[in-house]
Parts: sequence; C-alpha cells; structure tokens
Amino acid sequence: MLPRVSDMRAPAPLHSELTAELRLRGFEGDLTHAYGDRIVSATDNSIYQLLPQLVAFPRSVEDLVRVTRVAAAPRFKEIVFAPRGGGTGTNGQSLTEGVVVDVSRHMNRIIEINPIERWVRVQAGVVKDQLNAALAEHGLFFPPELSTSNRATIGGMISTDASGQGSCLYGKTRDHVIELTTVLLDGTVWTSRPLDDRELKQIQQRPDLVGAVHRQVDAIQREQTELIAAHFPKLNRCLTGYDLAHIRDDRGRFNLNSVLCGSEGTLALIAEAKLNVVPIPKYSALVNVRYGSFDAALRDAQELIRFGAASIETVDSRVLGLAQDDVVWDSVRQYFPEDDGQRATGVNLVEFVGDTELDVETPVRKLTATLASAEPSRGRRGFTVARGETEVDAIWNMRKKSVGLLGNMQGDKRPIPFVEDTAVPPENLANYIAELRALLDARGLVYGMFGHVDAGVLHVRPAIDMKDPAQERLIREITEEVVRLTSNYGGLLWGEHGKGVRSEFSPRFFGPLYPTLQSIKAAFDPQNRLNPGKIAAPAGGRLLTIDELTTRGQLDRTIPVSVRAAYDEALHCNCNGACFSWDPDEAMCPSYKATRDRRHSPKGRASLIREWLRQLAVLGVDPVSEAAALRRNPGWRSFIARLRNTWAAEPDFSHAVKEAMDGCLACKSCSGQCPIKVDVPTFRTKFLEIYHSRYLRPLRDHLVGSLESMLPALHKVGWLYNSLIDSPPGRALMRAVGLVHSPRFSGISMRQELAARRIAVATPQTLAGLSVGERARSVVLVQDAFTSFYESHIVLAVLDLIRAIGFHPFIAPFRANGKPLHVHGFLGAFERTASRNAAMLRELAGTGVELVGVDPSMTLTYRSEYGMLDEADRPPPVLMIQEWLALHRDAIRKPSTAGEEYLLLPHCSERSLALSTLRDWQTAFAAAGASLRVLSSGCCGMAGTYGHETEHRATSEHIYGMSWGPQVIKWAQGGRLLATGYSCRSQVKIMDKQTLAHPAQALLECLSRG
Ligand SMILES: Cc1cc2nc3c(=O)[nH]c(=O)nc-3n(C[C@H](O)[C@H](O)[C@H](O)COP(=O)(O)OP(=O)(O)OC[C@H]3O[C@@H](n4cnc5c(N)ncnc54)[C@H](O)[C@@H]3O)c2cc1C
Ligand code: SF4
Ligand code: SF4
Repeated sequence: MLPRVSDMRAPAPLHSELTAELRLRGFEGDLTHAYGDRIVSATDNSIYQLLPQLVAFPRSVEDLVRVTRVAAAPRFKEIVFAPRGGGTGTNGQSLTEGVVVDVSRHMNRIIEINPIERWVRVQAGVVKDQLNAALAEHGLFFPPELSTSNRATIGGMISTDASGQGSCLYGKTRDHVIELTTVLLDGTVWTSRPLDDRELKQIQQRPDLVGAVHRQVDAIQREQTELIAAHFPKLNRCLTGYDLAHIRDDRGRFNLNSVLCGSEGTLALIAEAKLNVVPIPKYSALVNVRYGSFDAALRDAQELIRFGAASIETVDSRVLGLAQDDVVWDSVRQYFPEDDGQRATGVNLVEFVGDTELDVETPVRKLTATLASAEPSRGRRGFTVARGETEVDAIWNMRKKSVGLLGNMQGDKRPIPFVEDTAVPPENLANYIAELRALLDARGLVYGMFGHVDAGVLHVRPAIDMKDPAQERLIREITEEVVRLTSNYGGLLWGEHGKGVRSEFSPRFFGPLYPTLQSIKAAFDPQNRLNPGKIAAPAGGRLLTIDELTTRGQLDRTIPVSVRAAYDEALHCNCNGACFSWDPDEAMCPSYKATRDRRHSPKGRASLIREWLRQLAVLGVDPVSEAAALRRNPGWRSFIARLRNTWAAEPDFSHAVKEAMDGCLACKSCSGQCPIKVDVPTFRTKFLEIYHSRYLRPLRDHLVGSLESMLPALHKVGWLYNSLIDSPPGRALMRAVGLVHSPRFSGISMRQELAARRIAVATPQTLAGLSVGERARSVVLVQDAFTSFYESHIVLAVLDLIRAIGFHPFIAPFRANGKPLHVHGFLGAFERTASRNAAMLRELAGTGVELVGVDPSMTLTYRSEYGMLDEADRPPPVLMIQEWLALHRDAIRKPSTAGEEYLLLPHCSERSLALSTLRDWQTAFAAAGASLRVLSSGCCGMAGTYGHETEHRATSEHIYGMSWGPQVIKWAQGGRLLATGYSCRSQVKIMDKQTLAHPAQALLECLSRG
C-alpha cells in the first residue's frame, strides 16, 4: 500500500510571518506556501530547481507596493524576492529560494490601446500573443519576436530585453518601451521615460530612492562615456543587463529604462508598460532555400542578406528532423520537399515584408531568379516560396517550436540550455559555428542548431544526461570554452535569453565596468534582495555560479531507473512552458487556461509527479511493483485500511498531486502538442491507480468505470432509465453521486434499424464466408458505447454513408472499449477489457476486412491507451471513419449540384493525436463536391466524463465559453457547423441547445442531393 508522503517542507517561519503581515496589510492577490505551488514555481526552462518559500500572485500595483513596504521592515531584511512572468527563462532568471512574485496570474490586463498614436499600455503579466491578438483588429502589432510568444509576458520580455526573428528590422523589446511603471524597493511607484536635462535635474533633487538612482545612473553616463564605448560590443543584439551604452538616447535624453530593460528583476518590480506598436505589414513572403549542409546554409546566408530581407533564419537537419516527427510538420511539409530522395540538411528562411505587393514581390523575384538561374552552387539544392500571412505564419510557427522540439530527442541525453543563445557579429558566424561544432563533436555530443543568422545569434542545445554526474560536469567545461570562443569572435555568451545564473561571467566580460554595474545595483537595491546573484551584486556581494545550484538532474537521479522508465512521459518535461499557451483557440491545456493555475497545466502535473516519485524513492517505495501487487490482490482486502486512511485525513503530498490530476480533462492535448510529448493522461492514470491503494474511491468512479459494461443491460430498459434521469429525484440521485447532465438513451432500436437495412453483425465466420472481392468491398464498423447508445442515429448515418459509396457495412458486436476505466485509473480492469476487445478485433481484422470507428476519442484509444498492452495483445488498425473515406475517395460520387461549405469543430484528441485526419475529412468533402473548413478551436470542456462531474461543471462551462461558445454562436445557424466528438456535441446541446451534426451526416446529405 502506498505510504503517506509527509515531507512537504514547511516554509521558514520568517516567510510565514511575512505572509501573515501581507494579509494584514490588505494584500488582495493570492499568497501560497502550499508545497505543490512551490514545486511548480521551482523550475523554469533551465537545468535548475530552487524551491521558493512563498509564492505571491499580486492583483495590482498596490499589491506590489504592499510587498515592498512590508518587506522593508527590518525584521524581514533576510527575505529575497524574484519577480516572475511566464517562467520561460532558460537560465534560472526567475528562480529563487525566497519569495516568487508572479504577476502572470492576475496582472494581465491590456489597459489602453491608442491606435492613432500607436501605443498601448499593459500590465506586466500580459502575454505577448494576447497583446498582438488585441492589436490585430487595429492593424497593429508589438514586433519584438520570441519563440515563447504564446506564454512569455511583457514584464518578462522587458526584463530580458527579449528579441528573436526579425530583430534586425524591428529591434529588441527595449526599442519599443516608451514608459515603465515600476515599484521600487522602498515602495515608490515610479514611471520612467526619456527625460530632458531640466526634468532630470528636478528628479535628481528628490530625497528618495528615485532621486538616488537618477543621480547614480546619470553620473555613470557622464563620467564613464569612453570606458563604456570601449567595452560595449557593437552588435545588433546590444548587451542586456544594465545597458550602459544607451543611458542617453539618440536625441540625447536621459532614459532610466535603458538599465531597467534587461535587468532581470534585479532592480525593481515592473507593474505596467507603455509600448510602441507598429502597423502589420500587409504583404509577406518567405523564400525557403534548401542546402546539402548546415555550414553551406550558414555561409550562404551572408550572400542572401544582400537581397534586403526582413529576416533570415537558418535551421539544421536535426531540428528539421524533429519537426518532421511533430504535428507541426503537417502544415509546412509542402515547403520542404526532398531532393532526389534526400532531406535538406540545412535551410535558410528568408522573409520579405512590405506594405504593397510590389515591395515584397520585387526582391522575392530578384532572389528567386538568382536562385533559379545559378548553377547549383554554395550547397543550394532548391527553394520554395510561401506567400501570405497564413502560410508564412505556419513556417514561422514550425521554427518557433524548434527550440522546444530540440528537447524532444529520445533517450536519457536530452538537449539542454546553457550556451544556447550566443551572439557574434554575423560575418563571423559561420567560422564561429565551425569551431563550436568541433568543440561539441570532440566530446561526442549530439546537438541541433538554428539561428538568426542576420543577427549572428545561434541557438544550440547539446544533449546531456544531467542525471549522470560525469556529464553534468560538461556544463562548466563547455561554458568556459564557449565564453572564450565568443569573446575571440567579438561576441557574447548571452545573445538573447538573458544572463540568469550565467551572470557569473559578467565580471569577466565587463572587466573595469563591472563595478559600475555593481553601483547601479546598489543604488536600486543596496541590501541585494531583488533576484540576488544575477546581473550584478552590490560591492561585497557575490554572483551565483553555474554549478552551485541544485539541478533537476540531481533530484531526478535519486529516482530508480526502472521507475523513471515507467514514468517516462512525465520525467522528460523540460519546463519550456509551451503548455501555458494563452490562445483559447488552440487545443493545448484547457484546465490551465480556465484556472490560470500552473499546477493545473501539464508542466504543473509533471513537476508534481516528479517530486512525488522522488519522495517515494526516499521512502524506499517502488510504485511500479506497488501497482503490480495491487493488480494481483482484490481491492476488498484492503478496504478497511483504506477507509481508515480516508477518514484520518492526514496531510499527504499525494493529496496535492491528486488535486492537480483531478483537474485534468484527460483531453490528450498535451500528449500531441507538447514538444516533448509529455503525456499527462498516461501518468495520471498510473498515479490514480496507486493513490487508491491507500484511499477509497468515490462511488462515482466505479459507476463511470463500469458504465460501458452496464450500458447494454440498461439500454434494454432505456425508457425507464430515461424517465428516471429526467425526473427530479433521478437528477438528485445523480447529483448525490457527483454527476450532472447525464445523457439519455437515443430511443432507437439498433436491432430493428439494422434489420431494416439488412446490416449484419460481423463475426469472423460471416466475414470469412465472403468472397475475396466481397471482402474488399466490405467494412466493419466498430461500435463505441457513447455513439451507439446515446446517438444511435449517427451510427446509422455512418452505415448509410458506407453503403452510399458502394461498400457493404457490417457492425461489430458491442464490446466495452475500456477508455473510462483508463481515465479513472482502473488499470487492471482496463487491461483485461482492452485485451478482450482487441482479441475480438484481431479476429475480425484477420479476415482482411477493414475496421472503422466513429468517435475520434474512442477510436484513437486503440492507438494510444491500448499501447500499454503486450505487443501480441494489441488491436489491429481501426481506422477513423475519415481515414477510411479518404482512402476510398474515388468511390465517392460527386453529386450533380454544387456542394456548400461546411465548418468543423474537431475533437481535441483528433487535433492532437491525428491532425492529418482533419485533412482526410476535407478530402472526403471535396470528393462529395463540398468543402470543409476546419475552425481553430480549443476544448469544448466536456472531455468524456469531466463535464458531467459536479465539481468540474463550472470549469467545464468556462472552458466552453472560451472558444466553442463564441464559435457556436457565430456559425451554428444554418446547420453547416459540424462536430466529430460525441462529448462535444452533447456539450453544445447542454450549453447552447444546438444539435450539431456529425460530418458523416453532412456527407450523406451532400450525396443525397443527386
Ligand atoms: C523554448 C524557448 C524559446 C525561447 N526563445 C526565445 C527567443 O526567441 N527570444 C528571446 O528573447 N527569449 C527566448 N526565450 C527565453 C524567454 O522566453 C524570454 O527570456 C522571455 O522574455 C521570458 O519571459 P517570461 O514572461 O517567461 O519571464 P520569466 O521567465 O518569468 O522571467 C524572466 C526574467 O524577467 C524577470 N521578470 C519577469 N516579470 C517581471 C516583472 N513584472 N518585474 C520585474 N522583473 C520581471 C524575472 O525576474 C526574470 O529575471 C526562450 C525560452 C524558451 C523556453
Ligand atoms: S509539459 Fe511539455 S509543454 Fe509543458 S513545460 Fe513540460 S515540456 Fe514544456
Ligand atoms: S490532458 Fe488536457 S487537461 Fe490534462 S494536462 Fe493534458 S492538456 Fe491539460
């Protein structure tokens, strides 16, 4: 039996006092020392893990003032703080063992957009893509680009002076900051902006911290101009972290923002920003040039720069290879064809933008004419051109996902960030990279590379197993060599992602200017309390070093190898934060979007499981053998003990993990969309199984788990069941077990309908009795409980459609598929159910007749959850109906009348696990003379049983309202809006009283037109 996991390190008493004091002073946001919250805030995308004592989620500027004022009391002077936004830093920028001040949860409002004067005012926690979505309707955008744009916050971007693709044209974040509203450590709220000398003088008279920092920074600028000019590199990526070279702007005005931008939370808390925004270019095109080697691509980039491109990015073969294995490839594959059966091993993406078509087409024509006319030289192999926002964005999306994809290598050696964003003058890039590769190759390291070649920035993440102490030592060794190499080439270790723990190299790089940085830090933060150890320490203070902090690898290595292997789908989360996606019309993690609570994200859940496994290892418990023992022993034997544990209600870290797992919809979006393929439903079910070896399950779990098996019997008294759940006592009974909106049987007698259609139940014998030709024209529909019993008319429509295109349909005997058992962690029962079902399917498929399923989620179970069965027990291929239709598209007769456009809201699992099958639907519709537009959408909020569970109903409705609700309101009238998922259709019925058709019904309608 699972033991109690009781080590939930209580916060230091001083931090508890601080929390109490903050509450007393009216702090309005959330304050938490819950171990789960602290674990989730203990990581960013770096290799480190630091457990904070307290996590504060302020609601307003006033809350930030409360934090600084309360903390100013002498008794709290030991307490340190790290501000935090999206938590996507790659070098521990927002990690601390003190207090995390996370502005992303509540301070995420766009305050004002002024389209005439082209500026916006935002709170620091606004996500960059959120801002651009709001600006789009004004034809404007905030241009500094970064790969993490769907989760990185404006506060984080300003603090790291973020930039990326397009920086040569649009500059860095600092170039777009007009004003910053910050809270200084003495609690002063200050809005900094460019000042003329008269204004500066006045401010310098102030007796407070504001006066002091202005005096200090101004003195530095006046007294050290030459030293600064001599030491600062002349790079597009001007140096982040107290940018002394730009204290005076090009109009000679003093600008405190030059030191605040890039200061990584070491000087002040940023509350709000006024930002400059620019018009969206009306036209864009991307020329994608393929090469025989990455080196050829790099060297050719310097040649391509001459054509006046807005940006040039280079991607190597490893990154391209990883992209090809990801869902993202689907939208870009046509732009990267093979050359004589060979994949490109390097690619340059050359972007042109402009306000007129001519602005774009003229340079594109020049470039493509050169590329087409030249003999294959410079290692070029060929090129494609993508035009227009959708196509260009799809390729940039693939490129954006590349950093994340770099983490998705198999095995224990995983690409990690530590020298991942060096910058050298662009003309030195190819030679620099040649030396860097030699350095990495000499150590036998595997790595992928891509870069902003126009800016001389290279992204590389060598694959290292941080669980191995010998490999861990490579971090220091390689970093030292890269520091030397970049400096030989006139470049920097920190080109784009900021310094964080790598600030260790600041004194070496800044030399005589480092004391100047120290004096700035001392002016803002004399007691070294804001993100100490990063960028600069006040005189006498020390910087962190890259090998002194606890790493995730060090913690993970304490988990036994066999356990790590069994929980593989959680342990490789590299905390890149792609699952914090802001976009409501994207499938990724509905539970996070609805709650904005990072425990309820794939990263949160993976982090909690990692910690839980680590603690079990400390207790000497092997969850794998626990699970095996559990399956051998009947549950009733431990009933009394579990009852006692449940009633005892003792503190247990497993409860914190359970709470996070309970919030998961098991929608599977993470397993498809996470670049590392972190698969929450898979480790969640393993956790639930073991958790319930110690604690009792609610009755509801048993009901839902056995629902599939009970349905055939219940269906026999369907009228009685329907009247019961429609009645007030019936509904009250359901509520008492924790269920709402229980579905009704469809009332159709499948037996009669099948008989009327002369459709037989498939048996191996019947199928084997068919001739070879008949078998080729036959297909077996594999039933799922939900469509068959609750929406029988859709099953009939699918059977009619199969017949309408000239095939002979059979129907497989109903067998439980087991998905609900899997979702609720009844893994032993799932295995038995799945094995039985798979055996039947194998027998049917053994006759050579194809098998198809209707509901996407249930059909995809055969490819996903059934993977846990032994190889010999696995099911044969069961096609999704659209795959089968696309395969037999030639059999679909175009009707004489022209078809209309239909719109599809797909199921989450379809979008995440089988994206290409959405194109299959389009193929089938095109064959039937109609067209199908797949709408961008998030989750419907129902996800099987989640939306039927009383405690989740409100969140389920909230999720529906974020993406599906508005789309249903916009498109449902007219009957052209379709949905593939049973759960989704029932949610629409509950929420908007609309009945959405299944695409098979729409196709049948098209074909029936003649
Ligand atoms: C896969 C991946 C790709 C990346 N690609 C890029 C890229 O293309 N370009 C790029 O520039 N970066 C990139 N990064 C790095 C990272 O995304 C950026 O540094 C980003 O700007 C951080 O924003 P955030 O909101 O996540 O900030 P956090 O990581 O939360 O914080 C970053 C720093 O800002 C400080 N901070 C945050 N909010 C505040 C505030 N309100 N007040 C004061 N200080 C604050 C923190 O203390 C910390 O020092 C990438 C990271 C990953 C994981
Ligand atoms: S779960 Fe996936 S997307 Fe989320 S942080 Fe981990 S690796 Fe990144
Ligand atoms: S299954 Fe869905 S709800 Fe659960 S963690 Fe993954 S994306 Fe989030």
